[in-house]
Amino acid sequence: MIKENLNKILAEIPKDVTLVAVSKTKPASDIEEAYAAGQRVFGENKVQEMVEKEALLPKDIQWHLIGHVQTNKVKYVAPFVSVIHAVDSLKLLIEINKQAKKNDRIIECMLQMHIAEEQSKFGMKFDEIIEVFNSNKFVEMQNVSIIGLMGMATFTDNEEQVREEFSNLEGDFNVVKSHFFKFNENFKHISTGMSGDYKIAIEEGSTMVRIGSSIFGGR
Ligand SMILES: *Cc1c(COP(=O)(O)O)cnc(C)c1O
Repeated sequence: MIKENLNKILAEIPKDVTLVAVSKTKPASDIEEAYAAGQRVFGENKVQEMVEKEALLPKDIQWHLIGHVQTNKVKYVAPFVSVIHAVDSLKLLIEINKQAKKNDRIIECMLQMHIAEEQSKFGMKFDEIIEVFNSNKFVEMQNVSIIGLMGMATFTDNEEQVREEFSNLEGDFNVVKSHFFKFNENFKHISTGMSGDYKIAIEEGSTMVRIGSSIFGGR
């Protein structure tokens, strides 16, 4: 079923939207099945699980870390991680830059913005994001490349609310783009949309959807 699910979603999303296949909690054999069907971009939300799977699987997989990351764990993924989606502090970004430098790499990052109404969701407020980009420490970083903003909508059946949260993020993305990344072509992604809301997310500007259960089944 994985191949069928994957192809169905790929047929639905525009060509310029990146599909991150979220394989968290699923065995490496499920990833191999998606890989055989042509998928190369996979998302995990836990450092240890991603490290274990990376060791078992083909080296041309692009690993996206999509969950909250503790600063002291960055070193484990720094040798291979492709994109870190959920950067939620300057402190974490400083550590990613440091570990990327040690590995002689540039790691792509997205700042996570808090867009949901729930308290529990991670992420920064707009002002905090602006503070990061205004800081001298950020300007000096040479081993991270900021490719955009990430967000998670409120878990609700209220489609209008979800749409508005995604739409607000797109507005904030445009402000950040024009102030800090106008001439930087790398800053171009909005990472929003999961199995339940990716269609709305794409309508509201998402360029990167993170889809798990609709590909690999429930967890
Ligand atoms: C689990 C997870 C997803 C995928 O969720 P599904 O509902 O299974 O598509 C997307 N983003 C993050 C940050 C996740 O933790």
